[in-house]
Amino acid sequence: MSAPVLTIDLNALAANWRALDRATPSGVQTAAVVKADAYGLGVTRVARALATAGARRFFVAFAEEGVALRQTLGPGPQICVLSGHMPGDTEMIADLDLTPMLNSIDQVTRHIEALPGCGFGVQLDTGMKRLGMDESEWEAIAPFVLEAGPEMLMSHLACGDDPDHPMNEAQLQQFHAMTDGTGLPRSLSATAGIMLGSRYHFDLTRPGIGIYGGYPYEAALPVVSLSLPVVQARAVLPGETVGYSATWTPEAPSMIATVLGGYADSLLRTLSNNAVLWDGDIPCPVVGRISMDAITVDISHLETIPRSLDVLCPYQKIDDLAATAGTISYEILTRLSSRLNRRFVEGGL
Ligand SMILES: *Cc1c(COP(=O)(O)O)cnc(C)c1O
Repeated sequence: MSAPVLTIDLNALAANWRALDRATPSGVQTAAVVKADAYGLGVTRVARALATAGARRFFVAFAEEGVALRQTLGPGPQICVLSGHMPGDTEMIADLDLTPMLNSIDQVTRHIEALPGCGFGVQLDTGMKRLGMDESEWEAIAPFVLEAGPEMLMSHLACGDDPDHPMNEAQLQQFHAMTDGTGLPRSLSATAGIMLGSRYHFDLTRPGIGIYGGYPYEAALPVVSLSLPVVQARAVLPGETVGYSATWTPEAPSMIATVLGGYADSLLRTLSNNAVLWDGDIPCPVVGRISMDAITVDISHLETIPRSLDVLCPYQKIDDLAATAGTISYEILTRLSSRLNRRFVEGGL
């Protein structure tokens, strides 16, 4: 085996989506967010597995992503575009039956002029100040927009992963203020909002990271594992140093394994002298700098030289690795490189 192996468990992925779906009453639809190539895991396989599990509505970031997704899913499932209707998107939206979430008065105008009668949703800003119309824009245009018949109204929480943060309640109240009485389907919550409880669920939830096995969905099954082949092993003595910039030296004679994989594969350089890799259930410390394609690991305590060491496994999940690297699971996943040897586990449950 010459390349690191990234195993993507589509059974676990489908089970996570179903569990998130069951976390809300049956009247609440559970969509699936598959932007950024399904958080780096491969939208074709991921979206098919989710459609098989029962997902009927998908969210992507850009219209181009919606095109690829439509080609994968065929007609039927609804594909919502979070960036709305950008200049140049009109043909894609019309031809591939995409549903833009309109973010501004400009986008509303563009959409209704270019594609009158073509379905759309509206994104409202309730305090995050990122996407969506704020209160004054919405007040100015709401009667006109409601007349045009949006399919849904949505907003997004800035601090949903911190249940005690006052922003959650403030955004919830603002969402009510901007949408109560419209009679339209509403959506406020991504994964984190689902965890906040029923007041946040409205008619449609939009989980992403929970499907892929990440915090704040604590009960998620791990979806990815990543195993790095051992290229060679050597003895290193006190006084000798390992890796770029000679940042590590052993205190006693040590056995160092070099594994294939590095910062080019999303194993961030901040993991240098910091992370552990695993031989089954035995942790092995990373020593020296992470380089582009190789990592050096202290395996002095192992009885034999392993064929590979794991960086994502049941003992080290995406959130554990992210915390060690000083980032979040989303960034670990979306940086997984295309040169990894990807294997999908599917069926047989
Ligand atoms: C990315 C995103 C989601 C999914 O968020 P997760 O935290 O991954 O569940 C939902 N809604 C919007 C608007 C997003 O940008």
